Amino acid sequence: MMTGKRQITTMCPMNCIPTQCGMTIEVEDNKLVSLKGDVNNPDSRGFLCIRGQATPEIFENPKRLLHPMRRVGERGEDRWEACSWDDAYKMIVDAIEQTQPERVGLWRGHGTGTTGPAGNTLVSRFGMLGGFQQWNTAIVCWAMGGYGLGLTGTLKTSTKEDMASNARTIILWGATFASQPDLAPHLIAARKRGAYVIHIDTHRTEASRHADDVFLLPPGTDAALALALAHVIVQENLYDQSFIDSFTLGFAQFAAHVQQYTPEWAATITGIEPERIRALARRYAADSPAMIVLGGSSIFKHQHGWEPARAISCLPALTGQLGIAGGGLGPRHGASSESTGYADVLADISRKMPDAAAIPSHMTSITESFTHGQLDVLLVFGSNMLSMFADANELARGLAQVKLIVSYDLFMNATSRRFADLVLPSTAWLEDIGLKQTATHIYLMEHALTPEGECRSLVTLLRELAQRLNIANVFPWRDEEDYVNAFLAAQKTETGAPLTVDILREHGGYWQRNNLSHVAYQERHFATPSTKVEFWSERAQQAGLSPLPSYTAPEKNEYPLRFSQGRTLTAFHSFFDEGQALPTLARVNTGPQLWIHPQDAQQRQITHGMPIVIANDRGHFEAMASVSEDILPGVVWMRDGWVGVNRVTSGAPIVSLTANDVVPGIPGGQAAYDAWVDVRRKEPEGDTPS
Ligand code: SF4
Repeated sequence: MMTGKRQITTMCPMNCIPTQCGMTIEVEDNKLVSLKGDVNNPDSRGFLCIRGQATPEIFENPKRLLHPMRRVGERGEDRWEACSWDDAYKMIVDAIEQTQPERVGLWRGHGTGTTGPAGNTLVSRFGMLGGFQQWNTAIVCWAMGGYGLGLTGTLKTSTKEDMASNARTIILWGATFASQPDLAPHLIAARKRGAYVIHIDTHRTEASRHADDVFLLPPGTDAALALALAHVIVQENLYDQSFIDSFTLGFAQFAAHVQQYTPEWAATITGIEPERIRALARRYAADSPAMIVLGGSSIFKHQHGWEPARAISCLPALTGQLGIAGGGLGPRHGASSESTGYADVLADISRKMPDAAAIPSHMTSITESFTHGQLDVLLVFGSNMLSMFADANELARGLAQVKLIVSYDLFMNATSRRFADLVLPSTAWLEDIGLKQTATHIYLMEHALTPEGECRSLVTLLRELAQRLNIANVFPWRDEEDYVNAFLAAQKTETGAPLTVDILREHGGYWQRNNLSHVAYQERHFATPSTKVEFWSERAQQAGLSPLPSYTAPEKNEYPLRFSQGRTLTAFHSFFDEGQALPTLARVNTGPQLWIHPQDAQQRQITHGMPIVIANDRGHFEAMASVSEDILPGVVWMRDGWVGVNRVTSGAPIVSLTANDVVPGIPGGQAAYDAWVDVRRKEPEGDTPS
């Protein structure tokens, strides 16, 4: 390791795709001595949110895992003893060799993406070549948005730069700055230019302050609003006949279908007055180009979570907004821009496991596979599963059946404390080499520090396991830099040679993606069987779903409050032991807080800051009341990532197994994260959470 003070340009380890922020760090004597936002980063221009600013606290943190540890005593006692890496490898290898490959599962969380694609992809390679179960983790996050958009054929997005320069109307639909803070300056620029901004969400957020108009609606009703907008656009002949004739499929059926979805009908569901819905539709259609910036995750995490994206994605096609500057769909978590990205480093291998043995990326099926005793070994990489899976009660019952659970992470978390048999210390982002990709650029993340303690990289861990299990070809590269070069191979330099880490260094660590167009779909070629935007989807129909965009009302039960969860600027899922391992984040995340409207609070004699219990027939958990007019009566909302949250969520499948794989690469396997609950004051005794 080099000595002397060095300044290095890198990226924040969090995964706020597709924006993400650059960092300038100084290291000296293998220590991180300073960190600030990189003012030259073309995406973030010096910005770092509190999560990024807190990341130095990973290092020299007394809570950080520094040595492999195995469980002592019973699961859940949280008692551990240090062991060697060799002992740890032996435990894993012995357990795998004593069972069949299909009884071994790999689950990875956002924690393996802190240095970009390298970790995630190697877990996939290891799983494919080993014949192990592994799952697409988009099902805890953005999958249902992608699924609905994919059915229509509008997965690609235009960039924030295009929005700033060209959009006249901007609809932030479930999109928050908590997920994409780097959007904010571009939104401000657009408004200065005269763009009109509308925010649609279940509650007021920072985004509302930058909007000219705000529409609040209950969780899970976005599809009803979108269908009513389509109704008005069709009814008032505001659609683009020429675009529809050339580039869409099924308009006649769609136009007939939306006749039933009047603004009056939508008003009874959303609470938004019919005239406001009409005015919104007229503005969207007439004051163009109009861009919809769709939320990445929370808006889709309910029982019928694919329906909003499916319905909303028809609006740009209806009005001919796709393929034009300032129109279409704007940056969204999980979306890709119109450009070349990384090379596919899985292309040279195929999955060893027969299809019949594979447990699909379908959350309910995964949980069932645990509860039915189908898994003997579970390797968990960078994830706190109990906080991320809906219906955590059932998941916990399932995890108890798995014979060996291994957690590879920076810190202990609720899942590892309760269920792991072996805990392995992972490297942090400055201790590995990696890449980050935004909609417009690829950035180098340099290896800047020697790992603390006995922390080992994911590459090292998987190479060691592959070697001991005799799984060939898991890591056919010379070293980690050579592996990173493999991702860069799809980018060509001016001479036609592939981009490499060395060339990226020569460019200061920044690289504008090849073939970048800030405007998506200029070719008007869409990724559907017909290559057109599909108002009518044959694929959906064959899978037992409505072939036309639909709205399904949530099933009501005896609990009066509609519960949903989402993101704040101070947390990212359950990263860093629910934020508690980093002092800066722990100070601002003092515990679960439930947003509740004053009317609902008053009925229950609840005041702001009061300890409360959130409960339904599935379970209960404690929180503090945050009484606010920023949320609608009858709705309660909380930041996701707290381990107790999913004690009350149902985990019911959103689509069936038949419909799971209709959209290539995007599983429909998310489970329902919403719930009906009631809330009460926490009495001094007798309300201890289960
Ligand atoms: S918004 Fe915050 S957490 Fe996300 S990449 Fe930027 S600094 Fe990191």
